[in-house]
Order: sequence, then C-alpha cells, then structure tokens
Amino acid sequence: MAESQGYRVLWYTEWLSSQEAHIHAIKRIIFDGYTKYQRVTLAETGSFGLTLFLDGYAQSSEYDEFVYHEALVHPAMLTHPKPEKVLIIGGGEGATLREVLKHPTVKRAVMVDIDGELLEIVKKYMVKWHQNCFNDPRAEVVVADGKKYLEETSETFDVIILDLTDPTKGTPGVQLYTKEFYEEIYDKLSKDGVMVTQATSTRYNIDAFSVINNTVASVFPVERPYKAHVATFYSEWGFALGSKSRDPLGIPRNELSERLGRLGLKFLDEEIFYHLFHFPTYLKEKMQQYKQISTVAQPFQIEL
Ligand code: SAM
Repeated sequence: MAESQGYRVLWYTEWLSSQEAHIHAIKRIIFDGYTKYQRVTLAETGSFGLTLFLDGYAQSSEYDEFVYHEALVHPAMLTHPKPEKVLIIGGGEGATLREVLKHPTVKRAVMVDIDGELLEIVKKYMVKWHQNCFNDPRAEVVVADGKKYLEETSETFDVIILDLTDPTKGTPGVQLYTKEFYEEIYDKLSKDGVMVTQATSTRYNIDAFSVINNTVASVFPVERPYKAHVATFYSEWGFALGSKSRDPLGIPRNELSERLGRLGLKFLDEEIFYHLFHFPTYLKEKMQQYKQISTVAQPFQIEL
C-alpha cells in the first residue's frame, strides 16, 4: 500500500522473469483466494481494468483479452476445412469457448478445465469474458485433468485447443506440453485435424516458445509457430499450431476472407492473419538456438 496523489493505492507486483517485474495499481479486489490447484486473484487494475491473475501471473484482462483469445482460436479453426467437433483443454475464463462457438459449423464444443472452483468464480464475476457461452446447447463443460480426459475419451475431434497455464515448474500444466501428450492429441484428431497451444512469451521465454514448437513439430506433419502482441503480457505472445493436412498459410484466400468475414472479430483480419506467422530474422536466429523437445522423461519447465 502506498500514497499517490493524496490517496492510498494498493500495488500488485507481477514477476515476469527473475530480472523483471511490473507493479499494477489495484483499484479494487473482487476475489483473492486459493483453490485446490492455484491462487486466484481477480482485481480491477489501473491500466488494464478487470484482470485475472493465477498464481500471481496475469491470464487475461478486459483491456485486450480478445487479442489473445482470437489469436489462439481462429487460425486453427480456419485451418480445418469444416470444424464440427472441438475440444478445449484449460480455458478457465470461458473466452476460448466463446470464440469457438462463433464458427457456424461447430456442432459440439467440449471444455475441460481442472479447476471447478475457478469456473464458479469466473461464471460469477467474468461475464464479459464468457458471455454465458457455458449455456450454449452445443457446449459441454467438464471439470477434470485434461491429460486424463484425453486418455479416457473415445471421441475424436476436428480441432483441439490447449489454453493452459504456462509450463512453470510445480504447476498442473507441465505434462501437457510433452511429445507424448501431443501424440495422444494426434490420435484423438480426425483426418484433417488441427491442434493449437498457447506457447508462452516470445520475449521472456523464447526457450519455452521454441521448445514447445519443436515438440509439436516432432509429432505433426505441418507445424507453424506464430505470435501476437498482447499488451497485458507486455510482449508478443507465442502459439504453436500443428496440422495433420492443411497449412494455415495455404488456405485459399477467398475462403479465408469469406470465413473470417463471418466471425465479426475485433482483432484478427486477413492482413493480421498472415502477419501472425511472420518472424523477423533476429527471432528466427534465437529460436534456432533451442533444439530440445519436451518429453515425459525430460519435461521442459519454466524455472523462475
Ligand atoms: N490465457 C492464459 C494464459 O495464456 O496464460 C491461460 C488461460 S486459462 C486461465 C489456464 C487454465 O488452465 C486454468 O483455468 C487452469 O485451471 C487450467 N489448467 C491447468 N492445468 C490443467 C490441466 N492439467 N487440465 C485441465 N486444465 C488445466
């Protein structure tokens, strides 16, 4: 707590690496407590408005959550010729499900998140994110460990989206960034199936970003790293897309503009779609330094 312009301000420190932190002015705390899996903090911040923090890290904010969620969801959905069945693992805020359900071809969308308590908090306080999409007749919400759910389901899906917390040491998502897990995903995808995973910050975790993309490329014939600038994350956020057949950069242009045009998006348009996949030389050179892939025996973990 500190004085600013004559009134008391609560400051919240978010560590982005062992060398860098950001402090947020907190106007109001809506929820702060522990669930079985993580610390959940929902606060009104000075810069980004309502913001969800898990274990101290910003997950999304009302300022630009749509940038992250549109970038995560639509390249994979558009890479599949006609996505009808979609599986989301993680995605607690419900915004990933919201974006998936914008596609008119979708008949069934299953969201599996490990933290049921978090989902109740989100349903109550984060309506701007989920917009009641949990009640859509096409949607099914399951509280379970995503890895276990995938191993046990007999269903196949057209698109599988991993919207998980970072693979930080000691957190529930680490094993969901491994070769063995992506092989399980490959087996549960239909013929033209596509997967995508959030792949952490290209600035603070270029090693994790590169290793995640290497690992997806070790399983899928078509693999594309991409990124989008998310102000709430102070960096270009990374993603890794794996496809059994189609290449996002090979989608016929008229099909792309027609399908994108129908979605009514706030961030993603045709120009930005292609720009997502463009990497400057210095970043390509940095990524080349990391050849490792993440496995169950040797999982890549972010150490802070
Ligand atoms: N947008 C965020 C980001 O980039 O950091 C992630 C969004 S979301 C909040 C992350 C979700 O992953 C959380 O709701 C968490 O409960 C869920 N999660 C973590 N590990 C999981 C697991 N093993 N199975 C299913 N959900 C998991």
